[in-house]
Amino acid sequence: MANGMDDRRKSMEEEYFHRKNQEAIEKLRAKMKIADEAKAAGVSSMKCPRCNGNLKESNFEGVMIDTCESCSGVWLDPGEFGQLVQKEGKSGWFSRFWNAQD
Ligand SMILES: [Zn+2]
Repeated sequence: MANGMDDRRKSMEEEYFHRKNQEAIEKLRAKMKIADEAKAAGVSSMKCPRCNGNLKESNFEGVMIDTCESCSGVWLDPGEFGQLVQKEGKSGWFSRFWNAQD
């Protein structure tokens, strides 16, 4: 008797988590679709952290950076700043700025 109840509860839990998983997958798919569409249109799927404007990818010294169409803010992905520093060399502004942080 008790076993029957446990099994029933277990299957309900499994169904619950299965449904939650499905929802999570659907959300992830929707996000990926937005990212793909943005990429195809040449814009970033990210919004400007400052003014919520559209970010556009632009090529700066061979490094792709995100520039805001509204406030002209420039945003860097992890690693992009390092690439810019390397490109400029040790005497460059970025490098001096970076080393001043230590
Ligand atoms: Zn902005």
